[in-house]
Amino acid sequence: MRHALLLLLITPIAVVIGWAFPVWYGWAFLCASLLCLYAYQSWHFSRLDRWTRNPVIDTSLEGRGSWDTIFGRLYHHEKDLREQIAFREKNIDLLRSAVQALADGVVLLDLQNNVVFCNNTAEMQLGLQLAVDRGQSILHLVRQPEFVSYLEHADFAQPLTLRPERYRDRIYTIHIIPYAGSRRLMQIKDVTQAERIDQTRRDFVANVSHELRTPLTVLIGFLETLQTLELSTAERDHFLQLMMEQSQRMQSIVQDLLTLSAIESAPPPENTMIDMANLLQQLQRDAETLSQGRHRIVVASCDAGQLRGSEAELFSALSNLVTNAVRYTPEGGTITLRWDVSPHDAAFSVQDTGTGIAAEHIPRLTERFYRVDKGRSRHSGGTGLGLAIAKHAITRHQGHLEIRSELGKGSCFVAHFPINRLA
Ligand code: ADP
Repeated sequence: MRHALLLLLITPIAVVIGWAFPVWYGWAFLCASLLCLYAYQSWHFSRLDRWTRNPVIDTSLEGRGSWDTIFGRLYHHEKDLREQIAFREKNIDLLRSAVQALADGVVLLDLQNNVVFCNNTAEMQLGLQLAVDRGQSILHLVRQPEFVSYLEHADFAQPLTLRPERYRDRIYTIHIIPYAGSRRLMQIKDVTQAERIDQTRRDFVANVSHELRTPLTVLIGFLETLQTLELSTAERDHFLQLMMEQSQRMQSIVQDLLTLSAIESAPPPENTMIDMANLLQQLQRDAETLSQGRHRIVVASCDAGQLRGSEAELFSALSNLVTNAVRYTPEGGTITLRWDVSPHDAAFSVQDTGTGIAAEHIPRLTERFYRVDKGRSRHSGGTGLGLAIAKHAITRHQGHLEIRSELGKGSCFVAHFPINRLA
């Protein structure tokens, strides 16, 4: 607008000059003015051209007159655009960090099942490398047949359970969730731990049922015999005695199961001071009662020091170790109890001269219902839960159970406690 006015002003001036002076003066004035106007516009154009090639947010884009308004608008437009881009990039970064922080693996696939993005967990789980594998088909990167057929059948109502080739001991479930049309989001959960717990629970239920079924079957058999047969008093007494033994066996199993469950669900053990000298004496007396003079039971050392913890729990744990020593040591053997306190730890140990245990069984002894010799364990009144209870109770007191044994020579069970558990 301003330039049009300027042109309108120049033309009459040139006419007046041409009229007042020789005509070419007027023409010269008009040409000089137009040239100046052209130079002025060209200069602004070239600045605009330079700036649009590399827009910089600073004061370099300042002009005069109406150019200043145009430059100002461009400047603000560019600035707003940059702010919007920065804001979106920040949000995308936040979103990306949130996906990276997920414990589950996440892979985004495009319409052709090519990898668009995956988080670190997915890289680790599937052996992907986003920098290299972006744009590659997931079917070329994870070639396990069950995965390929799952993706190709495109029925994602149920997740796929996969044991990856690279980590055979792990179990993943893969959910595929369609999004943005036919794009796919793969969510990979590591369910190894949950599967193991579930398996342990199933084994446990099966074991308990099996352990209770045997004495129950025997009991029912005896009851049927009592109902159907005419028996003499001596035979009847004999059957009743056998029934009593089976009932007691079931009672021991239920009692041990209750003890285990009580320890598992109980809050951290209370902190009473346990006089270990007293405890050792009591354990020795109980062992002598169980042994009925068939073994030599010795307390070899008893250092000073009271242990902080639950007396009932620790007594139950240590008594299981001593009882086992008596039960698995043939007549004439020796059972040695010790309570040793060193600057590093405090240890209760039971050494026997019994049957000993082969090395391959040792790591599994504290599993519920695990026995080396089932017949022998049952015959001596064992439930297969004693060491599980002992280990659990010792662990609850921040200790650990050490088992050393040599087949045919004897075993040594040591309950170690940290020194801060001593009074
Ligand atoms: P159980 O009631 O069968 O004794 P435990 O959990 O107490 O169950 O022990 C598990 C198994 O460990 C036993 O069946 C036995 O085979 C073995 N065991 C435990 N203590 C000893 C020991 N002192 N000497 C030899 N074997 C032992």
